[in-house]
Amino acid sequence: MLVNLVEILKIAEGKSNAVGAFNTPNLECLNAVINAAEKLDVPVIIAHAELHESVSPLHRIGPMMITAAQQAKVPVCVHLDHCETLDYMAQALEIGFTGVMYDGSTLPYEENLANTKKAVAMAKKYDCGVEAELGALASREGGSLIASGPVYTDPEEAVAFCNETGIDVFAPSFGTAHGIYKSKPVLDLELVKTISEKTGLPLVMHGGSGVSPEDYRMGIKNGLRKINYYSYMSKEGVNAVCDLLERENVTFFHDLALAAEKAMEADAEKAMRIFSGR
Ligand SMILES: [Zn+2]
Repeated sequence: MLVNLVEILKIAEGKSNAVGAFNTPNLECLNAVINAAEKLDVPVIIAHAELHESVSPLHRIGPMMITAAQQAKVPVCVHLDHCETLDYMAQALEIGFTGVMYDGSTLPYEENLANTKKAVAMAKKYDCGVEAELGALASREGGSLIASGPVYTDPEEAVAFCNETGIDVFAPSFGTAHGIYKSKPVLDLELVKTISEKTGLPLVMHGGSGVSPEDYRMGIKNGLRKINYYSYMSKEGVNAVCDLLERENVTFFHDLALAAEKAMEADAEKAMRIFSGR
C-alpha cells in the first residue's frame, strides 16, 4: 500500500520507533526490502537517490518502485533521496513519489533555504512529504569526502530553518557519515533530543548503516523516526556473490543476482527488527 512520507512517519511516532529507508537502485534491492518488510509486517521507505541515476534511471526504476509499493501488504513510501536538482524532483513527483528529500546542505544557508521553500511548494501540489537537511555529513553519498569531520547542526538555526521552510521532516547532522565506517562513529545523540524537542518534527538519521544497536535505540528514543540504511545491506549482497563464485562455476547472472537478493533481504530484516523495536 502506497503511503506518503508524513503518514508513514506518523505510524512510527505512534509506536515510538523508526521506519527504515533503504535505497533500491535495482530489482534485487527492491525485492529484498519489500520481502523483509512483509515478513516482519512493518512499514518501510524505499528510496531512489539522484546519485544513482547512472545505475538506474529514474524514469525506469521509479514506476517499478511505485508498483511494488502499491502491491505490498505493508505501508510503503516511495522516496527521492538526496535530490539536489529541482527539475529531477519534478520528474519524481510526476511519477508518483510520495516523499522527497531536497538536499541543499552543500549550499550557502540562504540558498538552501530558498530552494527548500521551492521544493515544499512543488511537493504541496502532490501527495508528497518533504525532508531537508542542514549541516553536512562527513562524506557525501557515494563516498567522496567533503570535510574531515561532520558539521553538527545548530539547534537554533534548525528551528528557524524548519519554521521558515515548512518542511515535514528534518535531517540534522550529528556525527554519522555515508558509506562504510572506517572507525566507530561518535554520535551526539543529545543533540538529536534537543533538535527533536525544539523543532517538533520527525528526525532522520543519514548514514544509518554501520551504527551500533545501542546507538539506534538511543537515537530512536531521542526522536529519530527515519533511519537511512543501505551501504551495509549492499555489501552483504556483494559478499554473497563472492562466496557463490568461490564455490561454484556460475553461468547465469540471475543466479548471482538471486544470491545477492537473499543476503540483502536477511540484512534488511535484521535492521528492521531493531528499528521497529523488536
Ligand atoms: Zn543520506
